[in-house]
Amino acid sequence: MRGTLLFLLGALVGANVVYFVLTRAPHAPAVATPPSAAIAAPVATEAPLPSPAPATASQATPAATTTAPLRLPSPPPGRLSIPVQGIAATSLRDTFNDARSEGRRHDAIDIMAPAGTPVLAAADGRIEKLFLSERGGITLYQFNPERTLAYYYAHLQRYADGIAEGQVLRRGQLLGYVGATGNADPAAPHLHFAVFALGPEARWWEGTALNPYPMLAGARD
Ligand SMILES: [Zn+2]
Repeated sequence: MRGTLLFLLGALVGANVVYFVLTRAPHAPAVATPPSAAIAAPVATEAPLPSPAPATASQATPAATTTAPLRLPSPPPGRLSIPVQGIAATSLRDTFNDARSEGRRHDAIDIMAPAGTPVLAAADGRIEKLFLSERGGITLYQFNPERTLAYYYAHLQRYADGIAEGQVLRRGQLLGYVGATGNADPAAPHLHFAVFALGPEARWWEGTALNPYPMLAGARD
């Protein structure tokens, strides 16, 4: 009798360990070293190789982890606040698939508004990067608390006073003002707003574009 109980107890503990290992498994393949690498290691580890393309890294699904629960990077539709003050959900237009120069896809939503209109955080999250780019002009990258999503605000006229990298914004908090910096038409100021699913390294400059329109179109107030 005691032996049976001990066996059952052992099996339970073992099952928990297996479950723990399985649920932690998605990180394992990225750091696994092929057995053959040990031989060539002194040379092979010298040169830092360029990091793999984000698509490869995020879409690679090793067979061993197919039964693990998949992480859904996209919040359900309607979970973001409209990031421009005074804009109703019904007035948004889905411009995600619009063509842009050099064969690029827009991969964002343009929210038209007069220059100087307040730009508000679409969700809670930390300011990861304030960046001035040729196309985007004055831009802001905000990460969600789980660091799985980046919210990107571009063509800003300027940042709000006191805005700094590392600052945590609450949903609806003022972060800047609508403008036409970068390659935006000065006659048509707007907020270029994008959402990116971040890779495992959570770098602000790389990610997979998700269509913000369904996340905003269902928003109320
Ligand atoms: Zn745009």
